[in-house]
Amino acid sequence: MSRRKFIKTSALGLGGILLAKCASGTDNETIIEEEKKVIPITKPIVVSTWNHGMDANKAAWEILGNGGNALDAVEAGVRVTESDADNRSVGLGGLPDREGKVTLDACIMNHENECGAVAFLQDIEHPISVARKVMEDTPHIMLVGEGAYDFAISKGFEHKNLLTPEAEAEWRKWKDSEDQKKPRINSENHDTIGMLAMDEAGNISGSCTTSGWAYKLHGRVGDSPIIGAGLFIDNEIGGACATGMGEAVIRIAGSATVVELMRQGKTPNEACKEAVDRIIKKHKNLKDLQVGFLAINKNGEVGGHSVYAGFNYAQKDNNTDQMKDVAYEMEW
Ligand code: ASP
Repeated sequence: MSRRKFIKTSALGLGGILLAKCASGTDNETIIEEEKKVIPITKPIVVSTWNHGMDANKAAWEILGNGGNALDAVEAGVRVTESDADNRSVGLGGLPDREGKVTLDACIMNHENECGAVAFLQDIEHPISVARKVMEDTPHIMLVGEGAYDFAISKGFEHKNLLTPEAEAEWRKWKDSEDQKKPRINSENHDTIGMLAMDEAGNISGSCTTSGWAYKLHGRVGDSPIIGAGLFIDNEIGGACATGMGEAVIRIAGSATVVELMRQGKTPNEACKEAVDRIIKKHKNLKDLQVGFLAINKNGEVGGHSVYAGFNYAQKDNNTDQMKDVAYEMEW
């Protein structure tokens, strides 16, 4: 009696996909034929969330394109966004909480699962670089609030007021408005920046930085500095980051979930869609609940998905330098 089996094995860590075809002659005899199909890997490559990702990618590419490593690239890239005073959702110029304080969340993760984070940090322009110092110079992973600030100062970071006159004016207007009781999320076409990069050596790192949900309660921390929620990297598989309503992302351990789904064989697009579907399933009220995921695998394949329309990302590699829209589940 003959029997046919088809086994599909993902060997992403080897830089290709191995398809093994097994055909057996009799029950006692197995003839195995293997055919190796090599998929070219896109690297180096950098992707990041929203329109502000274009400028951030440019800075990251100066490192990646010259043979530099992904960790340096994802730090340098998002620093551009952190310093952009016209951006209302990250670093300098970010919209404050309801007390008028700009409080920042950020994290960074490398190809060896080393990571660092800061949360509820004030008056420091580059939380991503403080997060990297936490990763490299301390035995800890996350510092928050005053402790994070004191640590930053001890490492030579300068105190800087991040509330620009423009952001302050917007906050004052909000304070006097009907909207006062409703914190606002994702109302502009740019929010948190999450960045994922793979360098020439095939190593993946990621970064994520934000001023969070505009007009949030003082002390609120979102998903962006939470490893596994706003960002997760597993260099054997790939990486993922999130933007949108952090509370929803935390509830499903969003970025870790996307990476685990890729480990099970899903493409980046499929993994991001399944995480979005899970968010939709777990929340009764989906009004204004925007979340977007962005992911990359070891082949340099990129994907994304969001709850509502409008989420996009910037991609840069040797052949690409452009914005891409992702598929979504609902119209606003
Ligand atoms: N995820 C961020 C937060 O919840 C905000 C955003 O990306 O829109 O703080």
